[in-house]
Amino acid sequence: MTASLSDVTVLVPARLHDRSVARIEETFRLHRIAKADPALLDEDMRKSVRAVASMCVIDAAFIDSLPALEIIANFGVGYDAVDAQHAARRGVMVTNTPDVLTEEVADTAIGLLLNTLREFGRAENWLRAGNWVLKGPYPLTRGTLRGRRIGIVGLGRIGQAIARRLEGFGVSIAYHNRNPVEGVPYAYHPTLLGLAEAVDTLISVAPGGAATAKMFNTEVFDALGPEGVFINIGRGSTVDEDSLAAALRDGRIFAAGLDVFADEPHVPVSLLDAPNATLLPHVGSASVHTRNAMADLVVDNLIGWFRDRAPLTPVPETRHIKPR
Ligand code: NAP
Repeated sequence: MTASLSDVTVLVPARLHDRSVARIEETFRLHRIAKADPALLDEDMRKSVRAVASMCVIDAAFIDSLPALEIIANFGVGYDAVDAQHAARRGVMVTNTPDVLTEEVADTAIGLLLNTLREFGRAENWLRAGNWVLKGPYPLTRGTLRGRRIGIVGLGRIGQAIARRLEGFGVSIAYHNRNPVEGVPYAYHPTLLGLAEAVDTLISVAPGGAATAKMFNTEVFDALGPEGVFINIGRGSTVDEDSLAAALRDGRIFAAGLDVFADEPHVPVSLLDAPNATLLPHVGSASVHTRNAMADLVVDNLIGWFRDRAPLTPVPETRHIKPR
């Protein structure tokens, strides 16, 4: 263990929240590079890096290029950008930022759901364009939350916070995970297709990664049906965006509300062109309050590891790893 935290070199590749960077700089020895590319580090620096704090892709090759690496502190609860399985094989700890963003993201999901159904963004544009005066009231929305049957995909921390909010709206709630959750009153569906057939509204909070890649496809959208609404606050990689755009265009589902996309910040033209899609630029956790809490947790994980030999929020793949 290091006697002094100021002797520990923490590498920050690419962008990171200013508060994390400032706290790393005052506590550790900070080194920054423009992207997670081993070519940007000289031999001495490569050998001295003991921690990475990041919100960008950290792949196996980058991990392997840092022989003294002990911990990767990821900004965000979703850590699909980090090759955590490879880190585990190398004995490198990976941490994320769960819990501190749960309620904010659940709030956003409810806002996105209501906006998708009731078209508040378009209604405000109508007012601002003077149409209320010129043309009269905004047209009645075909969409409503009333009577909807909601299916949550990914009933974890955020999914359960969304479900708790939805209870207050008087809608029915069911869910799909790989495993049923103990002690919740919602109907469990062991398959995504089974859930899509049973409900008319899907809210996905599923993580990214190979296991969920393009799980929302034509079959799922057709099972949801022409009154179907698809909300995604999880990861864009879980969606076959061509199939979604086609389903929206052809009226095979009614509407979609998306906070996340497969190739951010690029959004396919076919989705931009869909009048029945409500699109947000990945703002699920994006308040000053919550991003500050996430930024602090990134640094508190580093301090936990190097000072107390216990990071606060290790990811499951590396939970067993102990400081050297
Ligand atoms: P969590 O507590 O780990 O919940 C994830 C849930 O997904 C679990 O219930 C898990 O249940 C389920 N799941 C995992 N793999 C699955 C699969 N292959 N098929 C079906 N269900 C699966 O995580 P969380 O804190 O709620 O965060 C969830 C995700 O939200 C993050 O990974 C991130 O991608 C996303 N997120 C987005 C934003 C945003 O700004 N839009 C912000 C924060 C988080 P089982 O293990 O039983 O399958």
